[in-house]
Amino acid sequence: MTVGVYPGSFDPFTVGHLDVLTNAAGLFDLVYVAVLHNVDKRPTFTVDERMDMIRNVLVAEKLDNVRCGTFDGLLVDYARAVNATHIVRGLRATSDFEYEFQIDAVNRHLDNSLRTVYFMASPGHSFLSSSNVKEIGLWGGSIRGLVPSVNEEIICERLAKK
Ligand code: ADP
Repeated sequence: MTVGVYPGSFDPFTVGHLDVLTNAAGLFDLVYVAVLHNVDKRPTFTVDERMDMIRNVLVAEKLDNVRCGTFDGLLVDYARAVNATHIVRGLRATSDFEYEFQIDAVNRHLDNSLRTVYFMASPGHSFLSSSNVKEIGLWGGSIRGLVPSVNEEIICERLAKK
């Protein structure tokens, strides 16, 4: 059985993330979306909020072979714990490539049996990031089409309180 782990901050989960996840769900038997619980990163949304929003998307999009989990520490440890065969990441611009290149080297050093597969961002999503969504939402701009519609209201309300 092929198992992919798609790790990230997902703060919050965007339609760009959904695009990568949908591709991964079509490629692997089972996919885990692994929400990073990293105290240093000072996220806007709590781990529970991020996981709830991802679960909303899994139901809305009928992604039946996707599970949502959380991890801290080393990704390779989480990947081993769920018997992952591959890591999944997305690539937008060359800046992502530099970062992903480094992370891949570290992961290979830690576990050389685990390989990462990358999905290119759709042309319309190549400039979309969680940070953009937060910046727009904080100033009351429309985030329609940037985040899965099932979460649009929750995200707007939450950002308005900041
Ligand atoms: P991280 O902090 O680990 O980079 P992110 O939530 O920002 O977490 O991103 C998780 C993964 O999703 C990364 O591989 C990132 O490159 C990818 N990603 C983010 N936004 C997009 C997008 N618009 N299109 C494709 N991939 C994306």
